[in-house]
Amino acid sequence: MKPSVLQYLKLFLLFAFGGVTTVHVPDQDVLASLHKLHVDGHFSFSDVSTAAQDFGNLSSFMPAAVLHPGSVDDIATTVRHVFLRGEHSTLTVAARGHGHSLRGQCQAAGGIIIKMESLQTARMQVHSGASPYVDASGGELWINVLHETFKYGLAPKSWTDYLHLTIGGTLSNAGVSGQTFRHGPQISNVKELEIVTGRGDIFTCSPEKNSDLFHAALGGLGQFGIITRARIALEPAPNMVRWIRVLYSDFTSFTEDQEMLISAERTFDYIEGFVIINRTGILNNWRSSFNPQDPVWASQFESDGRVLFCLEMTKNYNPDEADNMEQMSATSSSWIGCIPLRSN
Ligand SMILES: Cc1cc2nc3c(=O)[nH]c(=O)nc-3n(C[C@H](O)[C@H](O)[C@H](O)COP(=O)(O)OP(=O)(O)OC[C@H]3O[C@@H](n4cnc5c(N)ncnc54)[C@H](O)[C@@H]3O)c2cc1C
Repeated sequence: MKPSVLQYLKLFLLFAFGGVTTVHVPDQDVLASLHKLHVDGHFSFSDVSTAAQDFGNLSSFMPAAVLHPGSVDDIATTVRHVFLRGEHSTLTVAARGHGHSLRGQCQAAGGIIIKMESLQTARMQVHSGASPYVDASGGELWINVLHETFKYGLAPKSWTDYLHLTIGGTLSNAGVSGQTFRHGPQISNVKELEIVTGRGDIFTCSPEKNSDLFHAALGGLGQFGIITRARIALEPAPNMVRWIRVLYSDFTSFTEDQEMLISAERTFDYIEGFVIINRTGILNNWRSSFNPQDPVWASQFESDGRVLFCLEMTKNYNPDEADNMEQMSATSSSWIGCIPLRSN
């Protein structure tokens, strides 16, 4: 079927006024074929513009449709449908986690977006015991995983700093934070995956079973299949955490100290370094690590626009070890606060 006059008009306006969104005129045949698919969830065809955005705000590709999957089978049916259109078809499909990509990785120009956060099929299942783990949906946010596992006194071994990211989104990359020096990135702390492959088949894989698929999908940028469930390794959550941050103006001292700390035998439980471009508003940025009420920081941030470096460390401890922690803190260059993580 030929594109309508309205669609030509949209394209003309886009070229004439130089919009940043890349609009693909939806192929009517594609839309009709998706209407015929039987899914437990539903497809959106009109209100799809939010799926043409991501955190980076650099690329914007309008999809033809968004699938809100009601089941893993919905994802398999949709991917199989795209596969069966054959190698000459230009129809693409992409999973979308929380849309925190920077360059359109979770978008599909004129294609189908699978909104993973809609996949709320099975409740999260926490298994305690000698090697505890949680089974969670690929579209689950890490912050929800933390809240659920805390109920059992457990927490994932490896984190990202920012927790409003999905399991599938970070396991397709790496998932790096201050525990990586000890446990490896998040992709090194997965026991099993359920994956919908590019042919629309559903596989369970692990280091022992379908191991090629397992290792390809972890860090595979979504190119080896869609992660619909992951089994994440857990460890006992700490009772208390001492949080210490040290500011540097000299890069060499900063990196030397960081290397010394991550290679030391008795060291912190979390070590991360980051660069601070000293500018207005840094006290209230998304990390919210710095407290404007704190007199130490308030004075140190007046640094004439210099770039600063920060080492952030935490030490886990039990309430009965509080005196030892006071001594340790006194010998540290700086400490900020003591955060109770759970009460029992
Ligand atoms: C504010 C902010 C803080 C960040 N902090 C950290 C950090 O501390 N550590 C770190 O490692 N990274 C961090 N990142 C980067 C982040 O981990 C990646 O951008 C991640 O891909 C975003 O996850 P998402 O759930 O938003 O996925 P999306 O951006 O929606 O998707 C990312 C990619 O994964 C694919 N994908 C999504 N879901 C699935 C799935 N279920 N199966 C297969 N493929 C899938 C998508 O198609 C896309 O290619 C941060 C990003 C931002 C914006």
